[in-house]
Amino acid sequence: MKKDFDYFNTLLVQNVANKVGPTAPVIVPSASYGYENASQAEDIFSGNLNLPLYARVGNPTNARLESVVTKLENGFGGIATSSGMGAIHMVFSSFLNSGDEILCVGGFFGGTYTLVNETLKRFGVKSSFCPVDDMDFIKTKLENGVKIVALESVGNPSLRLPNLKEIAFLCEKYETLLIVDNTATPILLRPLEIGADIVVHSSTKNMSGHSAALGGIAIFREVNPKNDKLLNNKYADIHKIVEKTGKKAFIAICKKRALRDVGMSANAFGSFLTLLGLETLSLRVQRVNESVVKIVSQLDNKLDKALHVSHPSLSNHIDHKRYMSDYQNGCGPIFTIDCGDKKRAFDLLDRLKLVTQTANIGDNRTLALHMKSTIYRDFDEETRQYLGINNGLIRVSVGLENPDDITEDFIQASNGI
Ligand SMILES: *Cc1c(COP(=O)(O)O)cnc(C)c1O
Repeated sequence: MKKDFDYFNTLLVQNVANKVGPTAPVIVPSASYGYENASQAEDIFSGNLNLPLYARVGNPTNARLESVVTKLENGFGGIATSSGMGAIHMVFSSFLNSGDEILCVGGFFGGTYTLVNETLKRFGVKSSFCPVDDMDFIKTKLENGVKIVALESVGNPSLRLPNLKEIAFLCEKYETLLIVDNTATPILLRPLEIGADIVVHSSTKNMSGHSAALGGIAIFREVNPKNDKLLNNKYADIHKIVEKTGKKAFIAICKKRALRDVGMSANAFGSFLTLLGLETLSLRVQRVNESVVKIVSQLDNKLDKALHVSHPSLSNHIDHKRYMSDYQNGCGPIFTIDCGDKKRAFDLLDRLKLVTQTANIGDNRTLALHMKSTIYRDFDEETRQYLGINNGLIRVSVGLENPDDITEDFIQASNGI
């Protein structure tokens, strides 16, 4: 079946809620769950019986969210978390030990960058970074036994597009875990179908859309207990869990090695709000991605040339070819405008009437933010250069408004700056 926007419109509304009984998703706020008897308690703890154990490691409302996003990503199972960073930390810390190395391909969301470069570093995890298309570097790192390769489906805010097929092929060849942050491109890109092992999302963004719930989720592929890259020697410390839990090993590893001990767990009310957002995700993603293309094309034509509009749909973008081949339905809500310097960027932002200035993306409203003075203010100049954070860079996340109104707002704001 063709997985177009309408495929997901049907899938999402049919799976979020119930046909019988309460039609809206049910919020189960209980932190603990009474067991029927001692033997049932034992079965639940051993994993033989799939009933709620304690809300830190699972909750029925979270479970509904996990099942819907698993279908969306065509995965095997998922774990909802308290935030996108919670999901990323859960996955990284479940597989990385002191002395291991993680390779980060392309530009990264600020929080992920500091997680790797500051926090995991304090625990002895080594890291390396490389541009999105440096295949030789990626290959060398894989040959040298790097344990995780991580990348974002779309660089935020670099807007570089990875060659996911090629990187997935290399990770398969070198039996190395590939983790993709798909926050910017739910529906548009399905990394598990291309060969990624784990997909993470900040559901705070596109999935919710309404900005009413902080949340994250990790979705896993099925493990093949007989022949799987997880059985490579470099993952020897988790082989026992794979042996015991088989197909479900990814979920067991993350629950036992992070969720249970760190508690980055989602809460029922947050998951309920995220589920409400998911019902309309496909409609919204289609609308926003059509709008982005329209807006950047108009702005690229009409704005003063000193204001540089960047988006992969524009033919002068470095990854335009990959956009046309691998991102046919769009690459998410973001585009950028480089105003040249901070003053012009601030002037432009403060003259916008319709746009909300905030540190978020994927909202139903159009948002904008000056990058260097906010999210990237604590980064050194070299890192900012690497991440493409120029002095005058503004990131825009397009919302559901009339695209002509958004274009008009940027044009009126740019007059006279
Ligand atoms: C926002 C974001 C995150 C972090 O998510 P939170 O829900 O804010 O913790 C991770 N990755 C990307 C690409 C993001 O945009």
